[in-house]
Amino acid sequence: MREYDSAGKLARVVCNQCGRSLEVKNGVPTIDWFAADKEWGFFSDKDGQIHSFDLCEECYNQLVSGLKIAPSVREQTELV
Ligand SMILES: [Zn+2]
Repeated sequence: MREYDSAGKLARVVCNQCGRSLEVKNGVPTIDWFAADKEWGFFSDKDGQIHSFDLCEECYNQLVSGLKIAPSVREQTELV
């Protein structure tokens, strides 16, 4: 879950799984996290809905460890 201040700057990121707040300084998160945004379409029961949630890295690791097939992983070719 992301919260923004009145100027639209990122103020807070909260893990939807464990509720931990991830530190944000001057609108910039100091810890990376998993962000999901899904726009459901016509071939679903949620047509027109957008679902969003955020997970800290520990909760992401816990989520993917329960998957029958691990997520695909590839290396970034250009790091910022
Ligand atoms: Zn978490």
